[in-house]
Amino acid sequence: MFNRVLIANRGEIALRIIRACKELGVETVCVYSEADAGAPYLRHADRSVCIGPPPASESYLQIPRLISAAEITGADAIHPGYGFLAENAHFAEVCRDCKIEFIGPSPEAMALLGDKISCKRMARKAKVPVFPGSDGEIEDEEEALEIGKEIGYPVIVKAAAGGGGRGMRIVRSDADLMKAVKSAKQEAEAAFGNGSVYVEKFLEHARHVEVQCIGDKHGNAIHLYERDCSVQRRHQKLIEEAPAPGIDPKKREDLCKSASRLIKNAQYAGAATVEFLMDEKQNFYLLEVNTRVQVEHPITEMITGVDIVKTGIKVAAGETLAYRQRDIKVNGHAFECRINAEDWAKGFIPSAGLIERYVAPGGLGVRMDTHIEAGYRVPPTYDSMIAKLIVHAEDRPSAMKRAERALRELIVEPINTTTGLHIELMNNAAFQKGGVDIHFLERLLAK
Ligand code: ADP
Repeated sequence: MFNRVLIANRGEIALRIIRACKELGVETVCVYSEADAGAPYLRHADRSVCIGPPPASESYLQIPRLISAAEITGADAIHPGYGFLAENAHFAEVCRDCKIEFIGPSPEAMALLGDKISCKRMARKAKVPVFPGSDGEIEDEEEALEIGKEIGYPVIVKAAAGGGGRGMRIVRSDADLMKAVKSAKQEAEAAFGNGSVYVEKFLEHARHVEVQCIGDKHGNAIHLYERDCSVQRRHQKLIEEAPAPGIDPKKREDLCKSASRLIKNAQYAGAATVEFLMDEKQNFYLLEVNTRVQVEHPITEMITGVDIVKTGIKVAAGETLAYRQRDIKVNGHAFECRINAEDWAKGFIPSAGLIERYVAPGGLGVRMDTHIEAGYRVPPTYDSMIAKLIVHAEDRPSAMKRAERALRELIVEPINTTTGLHIELMNNAAFQKGGVDIHFLERLLAK
């Protein structure tokens, strides 16, 4: 096991990693920017190191500063959390060169699965369903038109290096396709320094269903079943649940096994999420692989009892997975509500500032993953998510009741949060029925 882990992140996930390390008897070093100086979660780390001014580009994304901080403090591993450098293969490589263990996959596995074209190729080989479309990069507009004819409109043009929805175009005609390929290439080149784009079938009504997987360095890989994250706004998830409601048991089996097969074939060590879109007939198609721990990992922990963060650290240290697939059983139902510092009634405008009063919900089956407390000032510089309220109960209806009960206990004042919207959603008939699609929330908000 490691002696000391440096956490290259902030906020709730930094605290989540500190907690895992403490339980493993591993010391922690937490880095922070000037905007996070004095943040309450830092006191739980054994040491903390300032790495620069507030903008992430000058602090949390500064590879040389992170490596120096690790070297000065004698850290033998770095945990990237999610966001920032978590999916940066170059960072993973620099860590390796500096003999610091990167807690995550090898740079090779990360690059292979992180590039959407090579990931899709790998998926085809592993017999994981992918959307019909181009086999690889689209070289010119003629090639795109041929594909358009072959698979039929609508299609979507996507960037191999894509992220955050950039370099993506939905297209419904030949004429638009010609324009879209060109502009998507330009946008991808500017955003990622990689102008490769590809074309695939666009699914109008889809659910977002993803599978949590974990592999070790000895060739073992398992899945921890699926989550449904269809409640989204602008591709940002707001509520996640596990398991996905209403999925046919045979489909679930196929889905989850496909995901773990892909991870195993990629010789992947660490936590990964294989994301799929699912149509009305529950056919599923690979969307992308996230090569890191995800925001919504706690709901899977609640239904399986597996500590994903601790397991990720153990496999990075070279341990063999302590679970076989047959050891993983699903128990009950869990929801996660993302509590963002935003005024959702006014177009989700950010609402940073001082928290004067904070009351956490409690009771059976309630978990708050958060770094906030009374007296904490939410900086305006970073992501607006300030807490994750996670509930677990014996079945979906009970979990919804529990979520609403806990949301009503939660007090964060005087800043605005998304709590009220979550209460409305827990009372929404369509959401209660289960199986809403990825446009559900935007349709609701447009009313
Ligand atoms: P990014 O990495 O930029 O977030 P993704 O591949 O995850 O890109 O896709 C982002 C979103 O775009 C998806 O969540 C989905 O809403 C939509 N999308 C992507 N591909 C398709 C597709 N083939 N059909 C329908 N929607 C799609």
